[in-house]
Amino acid sequence: MTFVPSISKVEIAAAVKRVAGELNTDYAGREPIFLVVLNGAFMFASDLAKELDLRCVFSFIKLASYEGTASTQNVRSLIGLKEDLHGKDVVVVEDIVDTGLTMHQLKAQLKDMGAASVEVCAIVQKPEALQYPDAQPKYVGLSIPNRFIIGYGLDLDGYARNLPEIYELKK
Ligand code: 5GP
Repeated sequence: MTFVPSISKVEIAAAVKRVAGELNTDYAGREPIFLVVLNGAFMFASDLAKELDLRCVFSFIKLASYEGTASTQNVRSLIGLKEDLHGKDVVVVEDIVDTGLTMHQLKAQLKDMGAASVEVCAIVQKPEALQYPDAQPKYVGLSIPNRFIIGYGLDLDGYARNLPEIYELKK
């Protein structure tokens, strides 16, 4: 398995700045809660947070897979959330939206919890892979072809999250 450089630190930083600018405009005067999906979004969230000029809350969640169920649609449970979301404007901070299944399920759960609005902010999206239209992130840093990537929080079996740039699997 060989990985080659795909997106540089400079390109990532510019994308983060642009997305933060969009959020600063759209959420001006509101008090959104940013829900960071661990582990993959940790690095993006850290960079994004520093660019936000908003009164806001950051909270960190995990999506745990159920095991041993007969369910084919592997619904993942949300763990780690302590805040009451009733009436809140929620922004989910995600590493990558691929098919969109994860965000499709999470958005439904957050709406069920009473959130007034739920938007997704992802540093990377693979538009060609999207299968759930409602999972289309409103805020997207970088759109890439349908290839497996690592680095900037994204892992390969737990490794490579610490790489400051993004690498893609060589075809
Ligand atoms: P989805 O539910 O949108 O199909 O997949 C989202 C999740 O799959 C991401 O949060 C991430 O954990 C994983 N994923 C999707 N594409 C990639 C990729 O190219 N690289 C890595 N490391 N993880 C990916």
